[in-house]
Amino acid sequence: ENRVIAPEYAPEDAEVENPLRPRTFQDYVGQEKVKENLEVFIEAAKQRKESLDHVLLYGPPGLGKTTLAGIIANELGVNLRITSGPAIEKPGDLAALLTNLNHGDVLFIDEIHRLPRAVEEILYPAMEDFALDIITGKGQMAASYHLPLPRFTLVGATTRAGQLSAPLRDRFGVVLRLELYEPQELAKIITRSAGILGIEIEADGALEIASRSRGTPRIANRMLKRVRDFAQVMSDGVITYSTAKIALDRLEVDELGLDSGDRRMLNAIIQYYNGGPVGVETLAAAIGEEAVTIEDVVEPYLMQIGFLQRTPRGRCATRAAYLHLGLTPPGAPMD
Ligand code: ADP
Repeated sequence: ENRVIAPEYAPEDAEVENPLRPRTFQDYVGQEKVKENLEVFIEAAKQRKESLDHVLLYGPPGLGKTTLAGIIANELGVNLRITSGPAIEKPGDLAALLTNLNHGDVLFIDEIHRLPRAVEEILYPAMEDFALDIITGKGQMAASYHLPLPRFTLVGATTRAGQLSAPLRDRFGVVLRLELYEPQELAKIITRSAGILGIEIEADGALEIASRSRGTPRIANRMLKRVRDFAQVMSDGVITYSTAKIALDRLEVDELGLDSGDRRMLNAIIQYYNGGPVGVETLAAAIGEEAVTIEDVVEPYLMQIGFLQRTPRGRCATRAAYLHLGLTPPGAPMD
């Protein structure tokens, strides 16, 4: 499936992602509360010459969690090591990573909710006491090792803080939630990226791409790249409002950033379940999507634009969603 608006990382992002990734807080657009907090904690840790407390970042994919980990390491003047929950299969894998860190380094674990249980258990003392206790072998051959570790900062990322086990969540001193971006902020990011990539873009062209990027910088940068191709072929390469609009219409992303997957889900709620409420598992089965994808990727944006409500009994489509899809809302107002 090739959704332009899928916020998950895709191989096509790699080529543009590195040069576009902000290295300093100054280049990191938006998320003001998160930045303000982190700047204070980093400054304090530097003054005390201590390692920074462990940081948990949560929020939908593509909002800048990996980027923030890089900025944190950069501001602290230490190295960044990047890995992910599913990549650390055995306690020994984690031990190898941790024993290779230098004092104060930042270890970034993406999708930290997917760490295997056995790995999670040796992570607790590592985070708390900066030591590893590893038992190898069984019975008479069993041996235990106590390995002191350098002080380090763990930056964990997850789509939802609620997915983490309580003992793991409790070991983070700093827990920060990233929000979807406003179109104005995304327009800034797009303009900055265009500058780095040498693309000419007009302000209303940037805003048009921004409004269709569902609050997500990764999608905004990806769309910029696609629109550039259209602009190059259709006109003189400058991204204007109208080249952006034509290109994004062709990619079947509508004015609000909805693609066929979003429309399918809203249509299912409206047509099979009378607008809701419908449980997320039922909905997932109806449209052939995974429930976690619906919860972490599709819903946050539909809720942000006021098309979807989460109620204790399930999901409901709002009047605005009916109207956007060209359908007649039911008599009683739903929102
Ligand atoms: P996540 O780890 O949350 O999935 P990333 O940190 O990989 O997201 O961000 C995806 C891309 O979006 C980055 O490569 C970067 O270019 C861009 N990006 C993310 N957040 C910002 C921001 N606040 N300002 C500018 N660019 C950003």
